[in-house]
Amino acid sequence: MKLNANFDNLVDSYLFAEVENRVSAYKRLNPDKNIIKLGIGDVTLPLCSAVVEAGKRAVEEMGVKQTFRGYGPYRGYTFLTQKIADSYRERGIEISEDEVFVSDGAKSDVGNILDLFSEDCTVLVPDPVYPVYVDTNVMQGRKIIYADACEENGFLPLPDKKRKADIIYICSPNNPTGAAYNRIQLKQWVDYALECKAVILFDAAYEFFVSDPKLPRSIFEIEGAKECAIEFCSLSKTAGFTGTRCGYAIVPHALGKPNKMWLRRQSTKFNGVSYVVQRMAEAVFTATGREQISANIGVYKKNAAIISATLGKMGIYHTGGVNSPYIWLKCGGNSWDFFDKLLAEANVVGTPGAGFGRNGEGFFRLTAFNDEENTAEAMRRFEKVFA
Ligand code: PLP
Repeated sequence: MKLNANFDNLVDSYLFAEVENRVSAYKRLNPDKNIIKLGIGDVTLPLCSAVVEAGKRAVEEMGVKQTFRGYGPYRGYTFLTQKIADSYRERGIEISEDEVFVSDGAKSDVGNILDLFSEDCTVLVPDPVYPVYVDTNVMQGRKIIYADACEENGFLPLPDKKRKADIIYICSPNNPTGAAYNRIQLKQWVDYALECKAVILFDAAYEFFVSDPKLPRSIFEIEGAKECAIEFCSLSKTAGFTGTRCGYAIVPHALGKPNKMWLRRQSTKFNGVSYVVQRMAEAVFTATGREQISANIGVYKKNAAIISATLGKMGIYHTGGVNSPYIWLKCGGNSWDFFDKLLAEANVVGTPGAGFGRNGEGFFRLTAFNDEENTAEAMRRFEKVFA
């Protein structure tokens, strides 16, 4: 066997396993404690009824000879790609239906898209960030450079013209920091990418959490972006599809070859998302579906506001919590020590920032995906311990 030696360069990701180990060890010694988890990166509210009903109807169709469907179109069914293109058009962005590619989620897409790019590309990744960008490039042996996100730049690094890159990752609103770029900042990245002839891989997994009209939900709101960017969207956090699996990539024709290449890549290595799931996804874009998913996102945003308000009252520096389900707070010192103290003294679980990159040390991530009562109780305990 001649194995891919790049895998030897992956750093073991022990973050969530280590969190679980420490929580289990604490529980074994303190079985009566009521532990509240604000470390969860998964949604907790169920699928909305419009989505469930659409799924039931689609399953029925699959059981009847006349309406049964086998393999679907490689880009996704027109009923869905059309709705996605329409959702951009409503926001003043012209996306044609054949620029939309339905997938099983943003994680697969951000990794798989790398098939289109040369292995000698230099990759620019913000630090801290969603670890998948680094690991997928390490697997293919690319050189990675980092854009430092820190307190000084509000965890929103801007391009440094002295450092050239070929592939640029932007995640906004960001996981883990919750920070989101405004249009002026994003324009700087677009201009930089056009100048370097680089591609921006824009991860919009949390776009639906953006409620501030000054902040873009899509990079294609920025002039010039269609000539340099690919956008990845996900119904996971938008509509509770983490277990159902559906997302989509927008690969503009204006980029040149990538649209055709991505179709070729997907039709070679991927046979599409199931008909039932695509019908469920279609329901997300109906008037009822949108109303229902907005209500769910509203619940998470209320939790985020509770966390953010407590930290604000205590004068603790933090980002996120407004246009994002994540709150990134300055804990100072070692973030694992802070984790242990929060667990032992407040019985609250979060995620140490050190797990998201070098610049994550000294910071800590809380999430809004628990319920309101637990979130409020967790923050009362937090205040008691750290006031
Ligand atoms: N991108 C970011 C920034 C994420 O935080 C996540 C999940 O946590 C994903 C992508 C994965 O999305 P999906 O469930 O669509 O694969």
